Amino acid sequence: MTTEQKQDPEFIQFRYPRDVTYHHALGYQSKFANGLKQGRILATKCPVDGRCTIPPRIVCPMHHVRQTEWVDQGQRGRLISAFKINFPMFNSRTGELQTWENPIIAVELEGGARMDGWCMETDTSKLKTGMLLEAVWRPEEERQGRADDIMYWKPIEE
Ligand SMILES: [Zn+2]
Repeated sequence: MTTEQKQDPEFIQFRYPRDVTYHHALGYQSKFANGLKQGRILATKCPVDGRCTIPPRIVCPMHHVRQTEWVDQGQRGRLISAFKINFPMFNSRTGELQTWENPIIAVELEGGARMDGWCMETDTSKLKTGMLLEAVWRPEEERQGRADDIMYWKPIEE
């Protein structure tokens, strides 16, 4: 083949084995994970300025003090930012190439912590910074103690 002949691009895709059972010790994060299984969003609170952190941390990254208090962040929050992926991407959990209909958002929870998630509203023109959102959870029997136990954040009328 000469250098002027074009080749079709070669795509490499990794497929992860799906039936491998493993147990992972979460340590300090286990309280957060167990909270998610129960439909609760828990954050650690800094004793200096009261800032709540998700994922929870043992030590405040700003003040370098132990965070021993846990605060339930409630079920609602305000939209901080949103973006939509408009091209197929690999799902890091499954290795599958997929499209993403729901925008990825950042939410400031009632308790003050911030977390990322998926928005139920797929039309980004309907999303406004500061709008009220509510967590939509997977059925309890399907929860695994992961942030995606919250399937979506649903816009709420005020
Ligand atoms: Zn702090």
